[in-house]
Amino acid sequence: MEPTEIDSLRQQIDNKGWRLHFPPALEAEFQRDFAQRYRIHMQLGILMGVLALLVGGVTDPFWQPAEAAEMWTVRLMAVVPMLGLLLLSRGPMGDRHMQVLTAVASCLAVAGLVGLSLTANERFSHYYSSSITLVMLVIFVLSRLQFSWGVGSALTMMALLNTGLFGFSNADLRFIIIDNFLFLSAAVFALVGTFLIERNLRQSYLQARLLAFENSGLEESNQRLQHLSAIDELTQIANRRSLEMALSTEWQRALRKREVLSIAMIDVDHFKLFNDTYGHPAGDECLRSVADVLKNLGRRPGDLAARYGGEEFVLVLPGATEAQARMMVECARERILALAIPHRRSGHGVVTASFGIASFVPDPHHGGPAALLLAADQALYRAKEGGRNCVEINTAAPGSVT
Ligand code: GH3
Ligand code: MG
Ligand code: MG
Repeated sequence: MEPTEIDSLRQQIDNKGWRLHFPPALEAEFQRDFAQRYRIHMQLGILMGVLALLVGGVTDPFWQPAEAAEMWTVRLMAVVPMLGLLLLSRGPMGDRHMQVLTAVASCLAVAGLVGLSLTANERFSHYYSSSITLVMLVIFVLSRLQFSWGVGSALTMMALLNTGLFGFSNADLRFIIIDNFLFLSAAVFALVGTFLIERNLRQSYLQARLLAFENSGLEESNQRLQHLSAIDELTQIANRRSLEMALSTEWQRALRKREVLSIAMIDVDHFKLFNDTYGHPAGDECLRSVADVLKNLGRRPGDLAARYGGEEFVLVLPGATEAQARMMVECARERILALAIPHRRSGHGVVTASFGIASFVPDPHHGGPAALLLAADQALYRAKEGGRNCVEINTAAPGSVT
């Protein structure tokens, strides 16, 4: 999340959007979004223009038989390129240039009407030039033409309208004035509407974008927080809090499925002496190495290595039988030994660890995950008693009758 981009969005919102323009990069994205969102509106606008031109022609052979052929030629001259633009709007042209396509199509529709007013029987010509205002309104209302394109289209339409009016030799000047007045007032009305709608759409776009940015920032900090609250800072493996959550979930699952659940409690041997001999930072480094071994031990999805506290760790091994758990833990013991971290005050000359395993099928009478931890701790105590750098196993939950 770029703070500068957020600031720029806020600034645009504060500007109230009267200028109907964003900085270039934002403007390009707005136009892409706009084309995507309103392409169907614009296509519908063009289609309505096409239909209006074609449907009007149904009466030509009956009402104006002499002019019908020429009028249909005019209709097709407008409709065919409009259909071409409609086809183009379905492709990549529609992504980038939908406004131009719509503006050109609407001017083509108006040009068609001007052509009709010029070719129609004199008694009907006026209806065609008058309907230009109606077509302009329909296109503006339907197509979401943006303000600048709307102004350009309206001016072109007005020029076309007057070409028709003045080209239509018998046009009474009063009609020309009335037609221009009607067109102009309808165009002003439509353009004010277009302006306000576009301004609103731009403001909503800014708000939506700002919200999306703020949400993504929120999500990022949520993830960071979640990470901080689940991971032990020193060793970068699960901390006690996530261990307890995972253990509770696995306990419930094993209880439901009547499956075995194994855990191992690990304690680094003579660690106080290690710290006293090599210093606290070396102790930290040693804990990180031990954590790495434990982290890379689990293979199944539910396996978890966590730091329980100080120099104690826990492995959660859902579904691992007593034998499987023992095998994995033996492997961990050997790998820690193989790290060969010098420790001259321990019996082996290198850092070692002791392991206590608890492995049983959970039972509601066993007292929950705490019972599993307690059983593992008892086994660990025996391992310490038994000379350290070894593995002891407890297959009965404390207090259970087996
Ligand atoms: P034992 O073999 O019986 O487990 O003996 P021990 O010395 O390992 O056990 P004890 O509980 O007496 O000492 C644990 C030591 O672990 C004491 C403490 O200073 C050290 N310790 C706990 N947390 C950290 C840590 O985050 N970093 C370092 N460097 N040392 C730690
Ligand atoms: Mg300890
Ligand atoms: Mg210890």
